[in-house]
Amino acid sequence: MSAEIIDGKSLALKIKEELKKDVQELKNKGINPCLAVILVGDNKASQKYVSFKEKTCKELEIQSLVFKFDENIDETSLLNLIDELNNDPNVNGILVQLPLPKHLNQNIILEKINPLKDVDGFTPFCLGRLLNDNPLFIPCTPKGVIRMLDEYKIPLEGKQAVVIGRSVIVGKPLSLLLLKRNATVTICHSKTFNLPEITKNADILCVAVGKENFINSNMIKEGAVIIDIGINVTKSGKVVGDVNFDEVRQKASYITPVPGGVGPMTIAMLMENTIYAAKLQQRKS
Ligand code: NAP
Repeated sequence: MSAEIIDGKSLALKIKEELKKDVQELKNKGINPCLAVILVGDNKASQKYVSFKEKTCKELEIQSLVFKFDENIDETSLLNLIDELNNDPNVNGILVQLPLPKHLNQNIILEKINPLKDVDGFTPFCLGRLLNDNPLFIPCTPKGVIRMLDEYKIPLEGKQAVVIGRSVIVGKPLSLLLLKRNATVTICHSKTFNLPEITKNADILCVAVGKENFINSNMIKEGAVIIDIGINVTKSGKVVGDVNFDEVRQKASYITPVPGGVGPMTIAMLMENTIYAAKLQQRKS
């Protein structure tokens, strides 16, 4: 058996085509959706993600403003910028590219973003709404994962879903979304004992660890659905996920590739959230 590939790249293209129409509709009403991105320091991966976001905004004719700062910027200057962007009616979405340098308090900075412009969904307000089953903006990566599962008509209700990773940006919100869809969810992390015993029970296994070849075929159940969220760069410069794709593919029923799986969906969901923010602010004004 060889698993069906969940083609995030094609799905993201399809979603972006739909979103282009939404942008044009907004423009016809005199609204120009605009996303502001704040990038601090010279983390190569962050720079790459920000340039993907800029490029996609351009494709969709969403205005993008990128604010780049030196590693040493102080917290007050960043907070002042976020204040300005919060108050700028032309800016619909605000995103702070993570991780931030250690001297900056990530919580304080994220909390400053107006929740109505929190297109990443990382403010305590948006995370609280998600916990309360009444989301405002859903974090883009988990939202993209659920969209992929739905597109491929993979049932979630009553299924054993295992999420490896408990970060606020991926693991925790994804677990909540799976729970909302009536999956039975187990969250694993670096202190979990007997991980393979747990992963072997998973009908749906979502991996967000950040370690190459972390999951091999001995760790999965025959016919499992494998969602590989990890992004790793090998010594030879190749981008790979957390799952040993060639091996696991022989045993799984569905699998996401890296690249071309969750990554493009994350960006498509960011665009969707930005357009939603523009619509929402239009209603509020
Ligand atoms: P993170 O904050 O570093 O979280 C990693 C998680 O993995 C932690 O919860 C950690 O457990 C867990 N972990 C580490 N070693 C483990 C082990 N041996 N066994 C079980 N769990 C272990 O990372 P993140 O921000 O969630 O990102 C995870 C991966 O997804 C990264 O590769 C990142 O680049 C990628 N990512 C991809 C996208 C996309 O669009 N495709 C978006 C975001 C992130 P502890 O909590 O106990 O430390």
